[in-house]
Amino acid sequence: MWTCIRCQSELTAKDTLPSIDSFGVYFMCPVCGRRNSLRNIGRRAQDVPLVLAPLDEAD
Ligand SMILES: [Zn+2]
Repeated sequence: MWTCIRCQSELTAKDTLPSIDSFGVYFMCPVCGRRNSLRNIGRRAQDVPLVLAPLDEAD
């Protein structure tokens, strides 16, 4: 959950979509329109496909 730094609205990823520009990752508050920077936590999530592999355990 994200909190808008201007209007303190609590938002989820359903409410707004994160975007990226030359300044970094951010989301736009749908309530007041404020740009809110998001911390870069490692690689961009879009770059990391979720891979589920079965465990190869032999009995
Ligand atoms: Zn806001």
